Amino acid sequence: MKKGIHPEYKKAVVRCACGNTFETGSVKDELKVEICSECHPFFTGKQKFVDKGGRVDKFKKKYGME
Ligand SMILES: [Zn+2]
Repeated sequence: MKKGIHPEYKKAVVRCACGNTFETGSVKDELKVEICSECHPFFTGKQKFVDKGGRVDKFKKKYGME
């Protein structure tokens, strides 16, 4: 792997609307998401995050879960 041929890929802090934060790789320093694996009922198996304004539906459509 030669240096300089990739975009600058670094650790980014992802902040979710539920208050959870986690790290991922991104060219950005910080990412904001409306829902994450910690609060999405698809992953948690329980509804601990109240769906406001169809956030879950948008998420599902975005990720092809419907
Ligand atoms: Zn979350």
